[in-house]
Parts: sequence; structure tokens; C-alpha cells
Amino acid sequence: MWKLLVSRSIITTPKPSSLSKPDPSRPVRGTHDRFGEENVRYKFIQQTAASVAELYCFEHFTTPILEFSHVFERTLGNDSDIVGKELYNFTDKGGDHLTLRPEGTAGIVRALLSNRLQYFLPQRLYYYGPMFRHERPQKGRLRQFEQFGVEMFGHNNFASDAEIIDIAWTFLNKIGIGNRIELEINSLGDYVSRNQYRDVIRSYFQKHVERLSDDSQRRVETNPLRILDSKKPEDASIIASCPIISDYYTSESFSRFQNVCRMLDQLDIPYKVNPRLVRGLDYYEETIFEFKCKDKSLGTTQDTILAGGRYDGLVKRMGGKEEIPAVGWAAGIDRLALLVTPSLLPLPERHVAVITIPDKSNSPSVSSEFMTAVQISKSLRTNGIKTLLNHPRKSRFPALQTAIAQAVKSNASHIVIIGKNEVETGFVSVKDLDLNTQVECKADDVWRIIEGRSA
Ligand code: ATP
Ligand code: MG
Repeated sequence: MWKLLVSRSIITTPKPSSLSKPDPSRPVRGTHDRFGEENVRYKFIQQTAASVAELYCFEHFTTPILEFSHVFERTLGNDSDIVGKELYNFTDKGGDHLTLRPEGTAGIVRALLSNRLQYFLPQRLYYYGPMFRHERPQKGRLRQFEQFGVEMFGHNNFASDAEIIDIAWTFLNKIGIGNRIELEINSLGDYVSRNQYRDVIRSYFQKHVERLSDDSQRRVETNPLRILDSKKPEDASIIASCPIISDYYTSESFSRFQNVCRMLDQLDIPYKVNPRLVRGLDYYEETIFEFKCKDKSLGTTQDTILAGGRYDGLVKRMGGKEEIPAVGWAAGIDRLALLVTPSLLPLPERHVAVITIPDKSNSPSVSSEFMTAVQISKSLRTNGIKTLLNHPRKSRFPALQTAIAQAVKSNASHIVIIGKNEVETGFVSVKDLDLNTQVECKADDVWRIIEGRSA
């Protein structure tokens, strides 16, 4: 048995090797096919997120997966993990430099400007779809992954920060994980606060530079705030005792953050202020936040399930005439799919199975019994009833008992049976599998019987 398990695990986790022949059925590393129950989880999460966003009057917005590379390169920060090492860049046949989008916000801001929506503020938008980052694949970390996000343009008051967090909190509770998550919040302050703080921590990290990881050593000069986001174990103790940004807030940033926290209290949203929280992208300022999974089901480096903050400067940085206040978040659907409470998933919708009884010769599909079955299926579907028409396989219908067993196994609610007798009399049998009853009715009345109306 032990041998069997070992050999199985070898089979299911093939190591790519330049010597071995490429397996044509293997998906690209860090991508995966989704189907069955897993897709039910993804759909449930996306639909719940969309319905909560719509409850707050956000509108669905779709941008292309492909963008010009500069959309990301100019905005996310040269020093960010995404621009530094994770972009899927390529030059297409026409010589354009393109990138598979690694996140949603930069594309939405590009689209805001392309469609001149900056003149029609406020805008409340939500999006979802695949994102691409060349990362080391692990549980909850893929190269093609799904995000759902919301963005609000045109409001700069603290209440809009709290409202955007409230959407996230409502959504995460609706998928049943409210008690497994923790909200961490911080303010990066305004430009003046951040500049002062940057100088202070640069000189702090300079004192400890030799003990920092290679990536962090590089960032001491280029972007010392980014070091706070490091997941390298050697950086942890140095980060834990570094100065905190709240000591350098301007009075405006201080009171703005206090108001955001008060508003969260009012909305009954539990949170923890983490003064060392930063975000991995350059465009954030003032309020930032992350929802993390408290238990260890996602490990310690993939435990953030939703993150965001304020990014008032991004529209101007991407070519807008002036700054437009903006705040938003993005959630990692793949990580949420690992956490979602199964009992909340919708039950599969029931259907009607329409079965043709084979005659002795088990004639092929042009028989009048099968034609009646096709017509009844059409009328059921026209009336909005999910219907599975039993087709002949290799020109033969399965025996009646086999067809019934298959219908029961597929979780059908009813079976409609059509044989020679039914064609001659014009009456067909409808079996209710839950009540274990059977009625005869005219072919045209089948849908009424199934809907529970008398014919
Ligand atoms: P991490 O620190 O885990 O790399 P991040 O800060 O790079 O995350 P964001 O750019 O803020 O992530 O994206 C928002 C959310 O999208 C993350 O909190 C996470 O849930 C999800 N996410 C990001 N990268 C991936 C990935 N490679 N695979 C799956 N989900 C991801
Ligand atoms: Mg990342």
C-alpha cells in the first residue's frame, strides 16, 4: 500500500525535465483546468461578489486582458515584484510591446482615460477575470489566477475608504468566511508624511544593511518602504523594530486615518491597525488594508485574500490632466475558493430526463419515438425547464432500465418516457423521482405537469 501511494505521488507531480519528452496533455506550469465542483465554488464567489458590489451601486466594467506594456511598467513601480520579475511581456507580430495584465487597476485607469470617463465622476466600477504573473507556483499562488476588484473614482472623503472596506467585509461574510479572516489597516499618509518617513527608514535600514536579504539591500536606496513588504525570514526581525509611519503623519493625514477607523467602528467592522503594513505597488497613499486568513490553511506567505487602498495620484500619472481621488481593492478568487464554506454553495439545479424506449430492432435516431422525445425536450426548454435528452449512442438507445438508472444517478427530478405505445396513443409517462409517482399525459402538457400545474 505504502509503495502504491509513493508511486502515485510520483505520477501526479511530474518534475519538468529537459531530458524527458514534453507531455502534450500537461497544462502550462502555474495554470490549471477547472471543472465540476471547483467551478461551482468559483462561480459562487464571483456571483456573490458581483451582487454585493451592485448592492453598493457599482457597475460591471470589462477591460482587455492584453494591454500595452507601458500601462503597467509606468505605473506599478520599477521596484515592485510585478514589474521587476513577474510580467508576461512579449512583442506581437506587428511589433507592439504587450503584456498579459498582472492586475486590474492600471487597466481600469487606462480605460477611464480612453473613454473620457474622468469627466463623468463619480464612477463606481467592478471587474473580474484572469490575471498573469510569472511567480513560483504554490498552493494559492498561480501564474494565471482570478481576481475580483472594485474601484471608486471621484470621492476623497474618509467615508469612501470605509465604504470600500465595508463592501469587502460584506462580501467575505456572504461567502461564509467572516470568522476566519482579519482586517489589517494602515495609512501611508500623504506625500509629505511619506517623504519624511522614507528618509527616516532609509537611514534605519542603512544601519542594518548587511543583515538584510539581497532584494531588500537593493531597495534601501531605491524604495525603502517596499522592504516592509518583504517575506524573507532574514528581514523579519529588522522590520519588526523599524520606526513606524504614524510618528511622521501630517495633521491632515493623522485625522483622516482616525476618521476612517471611527467609521469602521460605526460600521461594526473589526480591524487591527498594523503600522508596518505597506502594499507591493507604488501607486498607493493614505488608507491601505489587507484581509488575511487567520488560520494556517493558506500558509503564511499566501494568506492575504483581499487587498487595496487609496491611489489618488494614479490617473494623473497615467496621463490624466489632474489628480482624481480613487480607492479600491482586489480579491484573489483562487485563495477564496480554498476557504469558502461548502454548505453555502448552491445545490445543483435539477433537470428532467427524456428517455426513448428502444423497440425490438433498437432502430436509429430517426424513429418517431425519438422525434417525439426531441419535440417534448424542445417544449420543456422553451418553458424554461432544464432538460436532458437521452441520445442514442453508436446508433442504439440504452435499455430502459439502464436509461432510468442513468437518469437517477444524474440527479434528475423527473423522467419522461416515450415508447411505441406512447406515440400511438399520444400519451406519455411522466415519473416524479422524488414522490415516486407516475402520471400519463398528452405530450403538449408535459411541461405543465412538471411545473406542478394540472394539465
Ligand atoms: P502576495 O503578497 O500574496 O504576492 P500581492 O500583494 O502581490 O499578493 P495584490 O497585487 O495585492 O497581491 O493582489 C490582490 C490579491 O490577489 C492578493 O491578496 C491575492 O489574494 C491575489 N493574488 C495575487 N497574486 C496571486 C497569485 N499569483 N495567485 C493567486 N492569487 C494571487
Ligand atoms: Mg505578489
